[in-house]
Amino acid sequence: MMCEYVYENGQKCRTKPLKGSNFCSLHIPYEEGELLYGEKIKEIKKKAFLKKIRRGITYFEGVYLYDVRISDLKIEQTIVFKNSKIKTLIVDSSEIGGLTIYGSSIERIIIVKTTLKTLMITRSNIFGFNALEVNFSGSIYLKNSEIRYIMMNSFHYTKGEEKPSEEEYGERSKAYGRVELTNLSGVRRIGINSRYPLLRQILEEHGIKVSDISRKHAKAEILAISGVQFDENPRFKRQVRILLRAFNGQLLMENLEIPGHVQVTQSKIKLPEFVHVRILNNIIFRKVRFYSDTTWNLTVLPNLVAELDVEGFMLLEDCQFNNPYIEEIFYRLARTSWERGGDKDKADEYYYKEMVAKRKQRMTAYRRGKRKIFLIESYVEWLLADLTCKYGTTWKRPIVIWIITVNIIFPILFYITKSVEGSGVPLKSFLDYVYFSIVTATTLGYGDLHPVGIGRVLASGEAIFGMFMWAVLLTVFARKYMR
Ligand SMILES: [Zn+2]
Repeated sequence: MMCEYVYENGQKCRTKPLKGSNFCSLHIPYEEGELLYGEKIKEIKKKAFLKKIRRGITYFEGVYLYDVRISDLKIEQTIVFKNSKIKTLIVDSSEIGGLTIYGSSIERIIIVKTTLKTLMITRSNIFGFNALEVNFSGSIYLKNSEIRYIMMNSFHYTKGEEKPSEEEYGERSKAYGRVELTNLSGVRRIGINSRYPLLRQILEEHGIKVSDISRKHAKAEILAISGVQFDENPRFKRQVRILLRAFNGQLLMENLEIPGHVQVTQSKIKLPEFVHVRILNNIIFRKVRFYSDTTWNLTVLPNLVAELDVEGFMLLEDCQFNNPYIEEIFYRLARTSWERGGDKDKADEYYYKEMVAKRKQRMTAYRRGKRKIFLIESYVEWLLADLTCKYGTTWKRPIVIWIITVNIIFPILFYITKSVEGSGVPLKSFLDYVYFSIVTATTLGYGDLHPVGIGRVLASGEAIFGMFMWAVLLTVFARKYMR
C-alpha cells in the first residue's frame, strides 16, 4: 500500500499511507485528517514534515500543512512547495538555497533572520507575506499571485561570492539584487520597513524574539512594483497603499492604479522611474534623497509628467536631488498638483523650487564646460529674480529690502561720504540723509538737496534700484492677488 497522491509528472508518492486513509500524513487533506485524527493531525503532519526536511528532502508537492516552522536549517537546496496548502509557514534563523512557492495557498509566510539566494512566489494565494531581516544574494520575486499584505522589513541584497564571468556579467548584474512585485492582485498594502506591531506579536507567539522590527534599512538594486492590482474595497480607499521607509536602491513603478496614498520616507532612491502610474490620492516624499548619474536620459525624463498621474497632491518635504533635471520635474509635478487643488501658496512654494532647479541646471551646464555666459546669467538671475522676490512668490521680501536699503543703507553711505549738499553745505542731520535717500529712490527729486562727487554715482544707483523694486513689488502683488 502506497499513498495515492500522484505528482504532476505522473509519479506516485511512495510513502506509507496513514491508517484509515489512502494518503500519507502530508497528503491527507485537512477534512479527512481532522475526521480521522481530530486535533492530533496537526502534530502528525508537523512531525512528518520536519522529519523530511531534516533528512534533506526539500520538494513538497500537494501537501496539506498547518503551522510549520523551519528553524536553524542550513541547506544548499531550494525548498519548494508546489500545489500545497499551508496555514502558517515560518522560516527563521536559516541559511537556505532558496524558497519557491508555486500554485499554493498559504495564509501567512514569515521569513525571519534568514539568508537565501532567491525567493520566488508565483501563482499562489497568500494572505500575508512578511520578511524580516532577510539577506538575499539573488532576487526576490512575488508574481502572478493574490497577496493581501506584503510587509518586508530590513531586507538586504548582498552580492554573491562567485564572480560571474565577463560575458554573462551584463545579464547577471541585471537579474540580481531585484525585488519584484509583479502582476499581483487583491493587494491591500505594500510596506517596506513599515511599523507593524502585529508581526511582533505573531513572532512572539512562536517564540521568536525580535529586538526591533522597523529600525533597519532595506537595500536592493531595484524595487520594481508593476501590474499590481489593489483591493478596491472602499474600506481601504483612504489608506496608504504603498509605504517605503528607509529603502535604498532604484525604484520602478509600472502599470499601477493605486486607490489610496503612496508614501516614501527617509529613503535613498536611485533613478526613480514611473511608467503609467496613476495615484488616486496623494503621494508624499519625505526626507528622500534622489540620486542618479548626470547622464540621465534627458529625452525620456520629461515623459515622467505624463507617466505619473497624481489625482490628489504631491508633497516633497526635505528632499534632496543630485540631478537638477529630476529636481525640476518633481517640483513641477508637485506644483501642478497643488495648482489643480487650488492652493496657490503651496503651488508657489514648489514654483520657486522649480525655478531654483532650473538655475542649477545652467550651473551644471557651466561646470561641464559649456559656456561661461550660463554662469553670469545664473548670478544675475539669482540677484534680480531670486533675492528680490523668490521668483515672484513673496511680496513681503521686496518691501523689506526696499525699506532697509532706502532708509538705512543708502543714508549711511551718503552720510559717510558726506556727498549730499543743501544750499552749498553738507547736510548735518542723519534724518536729512534719509529724506534725500527716499526722494531719490522714489525718483521724486525736488531739487532742494543735491548729491556731489561720489554721491552722484550712489544717487543714480539708488534711483535705478528704487524703480526696479517698485516694478518688482507691483508685479509680485499683481501675480499674487489679481489672478
Ligand atoms: Zn503522499
